[in-house]
Amino acid sequence: MESGPKLAQVRKVVTQIPGPKSEALVKRRGEAVSAGLGMAVPVVVERAGGGVIIDVDGNSIIDMGAGIAVVSVGNSATRVVKRVIEQVEAFTHTCFMVAPYEGYIEVSEALNRLTPGSHKKKSALFTSGAEALENAVKIARKFTNRQAVVVFEHGYHGRTNLTMGMTAKNIPYKDGFGPFAPEIYRMPMAYPFRWPGGADACAKDALDTVIHKIEKEIGAKNVACIVIEPIQGEGGFIVPPKGFLPGLVKFSKDNGIVFIADEVQTGFARTGDMFGCDDEGIVPDLITTAKGIAGGLPLAGVTGRAEIMDSVHAGGLGGTYGGSPIACAAALGAIETIEEENLVDRAREQGKIISSALQEMKKKYPIIGDVRGRGAMQALEFVKPGTMEPNTEAQSSIIKYCLQKGVLLLSAGTYGNVIRLLPPLVMPDDLLKEALSILDEAIAKA
Ligand SMILES: *Cc1c(COP(=O)(O)O)cnc(C)c1O
Repeated sequence: MESGPKLAQVRKVVTQIPGPKSEALVKRRGEAVSAGLGMAVPVVVERAGGGVIIDVDGNSIIDMGAGIAVVSVGNSATRVVKRVIEQVEAFTHTCFMVAPYEGYIEVSEALNRLTPGSHKKKSALFTSGAEALENAVKIARKFTNRQAVVVFEHGYHGRTNLTMGMTAKNIPYKDGFGPFAPEIYRMPMAYPFRWPGGADACAKDALDTVIHKIEKEIGAKNVACIVIEPIQGEGGFIVPPKGFLPGLVKFSKDNGIVFIADEVQTGFARTGDMFGCDDEGIVPDLITTAKGIAGGLPLAGVTGRAEIMDSVHAGGLGGTYGGSPIACAAALGAIETIEEENLVDRAREQGKIISSALQEMKKKYPIIGDVRGRGAMQALEFVKPGTMEPNTEAQSSIIKYCLQKGVLLLSAGTYGNVIRLLPPLVMPDDLLKEALSILDEAIAKA
């Protein structure tokens, strides 16, 4: 049976979606699996590779989500599979804090090399994005001997207790799960489309507003870190106006605050740069990575200034599985794929195709309020025509229509009215264009 990149890169719908085998398995899922886990599409996967997912009924579905920006190098990418098999045969686990191995060191070296800034950097590896964020905050607090954590409206940082507190949106992430950790302060986000007074006012005022609030409500000298996604992911691909991020970096520097870029979703070529921070040339003190780092295996990292990373006592960081040798092998395969196949350029090319298609759609359909994003990370925000009112009905009917036609799309946004496009970067152009034309058809129907 063929798998991985050998799968035919075509859309093929052979049953209703979901088909009978998916339906039967989804029923079993309902009996066996906690109701607390959501399900974007009721389609059960059998194989996946490149830009397609093959379901158990034999449908070949165009994957416009990449498992939430994880399989940017494609599912079961050749170099990832090869290195993982070699590693599994050599050894599966020792625990890096018990007996170290080269893969962890090599991934750390790669992160230190690829992340923004030419200063001396060090890294620590973990298993999930949330765990990377937790550790970045631990490190920043230890280094500064301060407590306050500044985060932003519409931000998403994970589902553990600290990161739930840092995440903005109540339902589904936080509702009923409190109490949350103290000393977390949420600032207004520079969200041009919804800034009171409009996008121009946002570019002019957002930074001043945030700095004023930090100074008056927290006190800059109490702030350990400012944590922000360069483009907000779950919050709806909100791109702050030029100058906002550099302004926050400067304010952090002037006030001894650790600036943390959460690049869990934007990292590893997704935005058409290796990292989202590269667009405006900002250099974070710490950067968190996960999702696109390892071609689908669970791995996350915190990378940053050596003096900050080394401020923690031995034993203060770690975890049984953090930087598992298998996940590290996968990461080395994924990073090699990104570099050798020029996936940064590829994300830019995909970005051009996507944004020109989305801009055309915006001209035709008044339910599209905003088109935004960068590289292979772009989104549509739906509104009731002529208003700013979120149009969640249109969003969900478009996603349903596309799935029927064999195109998997992901939702996003605080108001549940955003469709985000995150294709695997190895998806062929014709498949990407086909997915976009089905999206156009779906919006016309909505
Ligand atoms: C997904 C995500 C996280 C959490 O990562 P997990 O691996 O799901 O814990 C944190 N920050 C951002 C920006 C994310 O997109």
